[in-house]
Amino acid sequence: MNPGMDCKEAEEAVHGYVDGELDRAAAARVDAHIRGCAQCRRLYERERQMSASLRQAAERFTAPADLGQRIGAALEMAAKPASREHAVSWRQLGLAASFLLVAVISSALTFRFSVPGETDRQGEEVISGHVRALVANHMTDVASSDQHTVKPWFNGKLDLSPPVVDLAREEFPLVGGRLDYVDGHPVAALVYRHRQHPITLYVWVDGSAGDGAARHLSRRGYNALGWTLKGTVFWAVSDINAEDLQRFAELLKSQA
Ligand SMILES: [Zn+2]
Repeated sequence: MNPGMDCKEAEEAVHGYVDGELDRAAAARVDAHIRGCAQCRRLYERERQMSASLRQAAERFTAPADLGQRIGAALEMAAKPASREHAVSWRQLGLAASFLLVAVISSALTFRFSVPGETDRQGEEVISGHVRALVANHMTDVASSDQHTVKPWFNGKLDLSPPVVDLAREEFPLVGGRLDYVDGHPVAALVYRHRQHPITLYVWVDGSAGDGAARHLSRRGYNALGWTLKGTVFWAVSDINAEDLQRFAELLKSQA
């Protein structure tokens, strides 16, 4: 007994029936049809299960409170007739989006191809150490422009006697030295200056490190330049530009 409802009509109505969107009379007609029609009853079962699992999923992934508003606003904007002005701004938006994409991709590539692991980690650490000393306003434990005062100060404090050179005539005057920590080990930190900009020169012994190519790291406006000489590791850190820091490193190497 299917009063006025065939399978086609039932198929169209079953979704609303499952979601309880039909008025009482229509719901009764669908109900009557699926009782008497196995095919539409199977369709009803499928719809009911799908609706139930969608509801479950929706409970698991609660949408942000303003999502509805944002979708509504986006639809409203899309529905507005595109004036010339709008067309331009959409084009500009597309252009901006593609620039953004390029920027994201190139920064990802830069990150990927930057100097790997160990250098980055050491560079990060010495930059942090330099910044820490600056912030604490504690660049030196021994403040002296005399290498013959600074060098012996490290005696007994470290297992190395750091090379201390006088570069005052080359515009890198010695300011002093301090003990610092890199990788959990105490290291010598010699402090130089270039036009009021402090430079920390970290020195520690690492027997396993051979003579290595210069390594450079730039972070938050600070440059770190690292090199290894006969088992001694050097890192120079400062906010002076990379060229001046390079010159400082070359001067140190030439006097070592
Ligand atoms: Zn049917």
